[in-house]
Amino acid sequence: MIDTHCHINDEQLLANADQIIKDAISNGVQKLICIGWDLESSRTAVNLAHQYDCVFAAVGFHPENLENVSDNALTEIEKLARDNKVVAIGEIGLDYHWFKEESEHANQKIWFIKQIELANKLGLPVSIHARDASQDTYDLLSQHPINNGFVLHCYSGSPEMMERFAKLGAYFGFDGPVTFKNSITPKECVKACREDRIVVETDCPYMAPTPYRGKTNEPKYIPVILEKIAEIKEISLDKAIEMTDRNAHELFKF
Ligand SMILES: [Zn+2]
Repeated sequence: MIDTHCHINDEQLLANADQIIKDAISNGVQKLICIGWDLESSRTAVNLAHQYDCVFAAVGFHPENLENVSDNALTEIEKLARDNKVVAIGEIGLDYHWFKEESEHANQKIWFIKQIELANKLGLPVSIHARDASQDTYDLLSQHPINNGFVLHCYSGSPEMMERFAKLGAYFGFDGPVTFKNSITPKECVKACREDRIVVETDCPYMAPTPYRGKTNEPKYIPVILEKIAEIKEISLDKAIEMTDRNAHELFKF
């Protein structure tokens, strides 16, 4: 099993990274992609990837964390991204949930595009954060294609948009919300998702799956999410594991 999107570089988890990674492995999670959200967290992700064979890294500036972004900072991201344990640029994208101003959206787009160009230059896939910004993300990706694949992590759009994104080459990452009792759209999206485009993630320390909701999330909960995906898609757990593993390897080439 592969956790394609986790933040063990988050201060809530970092001090216990050793135990968290051991627990992940003993629960069958063999690979983890530790995702950066700014320069510092990207550096930490790469350091963790050097310390642990099973950890890989993604580097980039999250749309909520653009206060220190600059062309110089992006040059540093590029240096990190050339490391052979970096498997993606991310997480990058658009967040209109926390940012409502047109000027903020415009700024997010500028850095999203610059980081897509970086991913294309380095031949890397992209891990995308798109929150309440499905249409703009779609439009931007149509105009600035990603050459080496991308995942819409914690996919929260509609099943209809999913079909359109899939035509651009998207993979879809599912996590805790598919297990939440009252969540409907994530379950519909899992149901509708093509079997060759689905991957699994925790996005820890956030959004722990039921029955751990409200607690600190960890990669060891990946099997809980996969069980739910298997149930929704009416397939065996083995099949769910096999298909999400294969897709993650296709996308991230590790
Ligand atoms: Zn994340």
